[in-house]
Amino acid sequence: MDDFISCPLCDGRGTLANTSLQRCARCHGRGAITTTFAPHTQPVLGRMPWESACPDCRGTGQRYGPAVVACAMCSGHGTIPRAAIAVN
Ligand SMILES: [Zn+2]
Ligand SMILES: [Zn+2]
Repeated sequence: MDDFISCPLCDGRGTLANTSLQRCARCHGRGAITTTFAPHTQPVLGRMPWESACPDCRGTGQRYGPAVVACAMCSGHGTIPRAAIAVN
C-alpha cells in the first residue's frame, strides 16, 4: 500500500556527500584573484592590479563541492514514488 519507497541512491537520508570537483566560486575557476594593491610592495607599485593565488582553491581553480547536497534522485525527500523505479 505504500506508494513511496526509501530512495536507493541515498538510502533514505535525502542527502548525498558531494566529492566532485567544481569550479571555484571565488576566482571563477581562474585560480587567481585580482586585488587592487599588495601590502608588501612598494607604495609606488601599490595601485597596480595584482594577481595572487586564490586562497579558497589554492590556485587550482577547482574546489570540492559542498560536503552535503540534496539527493538528485529524491530531491532531498529520502523517498521516491515506487513507480519511479518500476520501469525495470
Ligand atoms: Zn579559487
Ligand atoms: Zn535520495
